[in-house]
Amino acid sequence: MLWNAHWAVQTDLKNAEQKRYHEEAKATINTVFGASPDYKIIHQWTTSLLAKATIKIAQDNIPNNDADTKDTMAVTDPQDHRIYIFELYHRDKVRGQSMTDVARARILLHELMHSVSYAYDWWTMDADGNVNFVVAEKVNKHLAARAKAKQQRNVPLTEDEKRDVITTPLINGYWHSTYQALKEAASHKMHMNADTWAVFGYYSLYRKLPTPAGADPSCFVWSRPESFKSNVEALSRSPY
Ligand SMILES: [Zn+2]
Repeated sequence: MLWNAHWAVQTDLKNAEQKRYHEEAKATINTVFGASPDYKIIHQWTTSLLAKATIKIAQDNIPNNDADTKDTMAVTDPQDHRIYIFELYHRDKVRGQSMTDVARARILLHELMHSVSYAYDWWTMDADGNVNFVVAEKVNKHLAARAKAKQQRNVPLTEDEKRDVITTPLINGYWHSTYQALKEAASHKMHMNADTWAVFGYYSLYRKLPTPAGADPSCFVWSRPESFKSNVEALSRSPY
C-alpha cells in the first residue's frame, strides 16, 4: 500500500523504471478506487494515517446475542474511535464459509479506517447524481423506521420516524455489496469508503481483487488467492 501510494504521486520520474513504477501504482489505485481517484489524499491517508495508526481495541469476543448485532464482526465507536470485536470474528465458519486470517485482516483494516479517518459504509445519490456519505446513525434510524413500517403496518410512523426515512437510493460500500456501483458513481470519494482500504490492502499484496473471477460476488469471507504460494517478493518489497 505504501509503495503504491508513494509511486502514484511521484512526478519527477528519473528513468524508465521509475516511470513503470508510477504507471503500475496508478493502475493499482484505479483498479481499487476507480477511474478518477484522489491520488494525493490516498497518499496522505496511507502514509500519515494508516502507516502510523495503532488499533485501539475497546472489547474483544463480545457475544453476538441480539438481533442488531447477530451479523456484526466488529464496530468502531465514532466518538472515541475504539474498536469492538465480536465473537463472530473468531468463529471457524461465518455464513457457511470457513473464516480466514485474510478475512480477519480485512475487518481490522476496514475498522481502522473508520477509527483514523472520515470513512463510511453507506452512501446515497441525490437527484443530480451526486453521491454523499450517510452516517451510520442515520442509516440505523432509517432501517428502524422501515422495519416498523413493514412489521406493524397498522401503526403509523411518527413525524420523526417519517423524517428518518431516506428516500434517495442507498449504496453500501462493502466489497460484497454495492462497492462496484459506488466506484463507478463516485471514484473521487472512494477513499472515504472504509472497505476500499481493505480492498487496497488485498490488491497491493496479492495483485488480485478479493473475490476470484467466477466466484459468488457476495462471497463474504476473503481468502488468499489459490495462485499465491509465498509471495516473498511482495512481502519484502521496500515501501518505496
Ligand atoms: Zn464499516
